[in-house]
Amino acid sequence: MAHKKTLYELQKTDDEIRRITTRLDEIETLLANDESVRKAKTQALQAKKGVKVAEAALSKAEEAVQRQTVKLEHNQAALYGGKVTNPKELQDLQLEAAALKRRIARLEEAQLEAMQTVEKARLRYKKAVRLYRKAQTRQSEQQAGLRGEIVTLKAKKEKLLAERETLAAQLPADEYRLYEDLRAARKGVAVAAVQNEACNACGATLSTRLLQAVRSPTHLARCPSCRRILYEPR
Ligand SMILES: [Zn+2]
Repeated sequence: MAHKKTLYELQKTDDEIRRITTRLDEIETLLANDESVRKAKTQALQAKKGVKVAEAALSKAEEAVQRQTVKLEHNQAALYGGKVTNPKELQDLQLEAAALKRRIARLEEAQLEAMQTVEKARLRYKKAVRLYRKAQTRQSEQQAGLRGEIVTLKAKKEKLLAERETLAAQLPADEYRLYEDLRAARKGVAVAAVQNEACNACGATLSTRLLQAVRSPTHLARCPSCRRILYEPR
């Protein structure tokens, strides 16, 4: 008596256990990976730095305008204060006033540009923070989903392991040993289904005589090419 059906059931159970184990490993990797959040955080920090730099440049520009404005005030006080009467000196003061006004106009333009740069940097920072929060939310949602999946998969795996034990106990020692040896040697697949008169695992075509042996309840037929145990599901 050969326990082909039991061997085939055992194979299907082991396949399912392996699939679950692979998925559990995958989930572990996904849970450990927070790259998108880390990247978004780095970008937010960089944007924040950008705001600081732009603000520093703006206050420098403001100070420059301020300094020249004070100079102009002194100049105007001297020019219209009545203390300076020498025409040559008055002319110099007028020339200086004109130069200062030109300089102030230039500096005010630079100040306006600096203000615009600050605005842009602040917007960029706001956007980066929004993206960072979004990445955090997405990650925690994903992680909650994955943790739920772990619970389901672990319960399923427990059940399958118990089923496996029951199936293995139904097999004679020599058939179980053959099954385990083949599984170790053949990438986890010891039992191959017969489909369209061929081995489903390696594709070898099976002779009529071998197909008869596969259907015999007493004989444990093996694929002539990959040596796996053959089973014909009905
Ligand atoms: Zn084969």
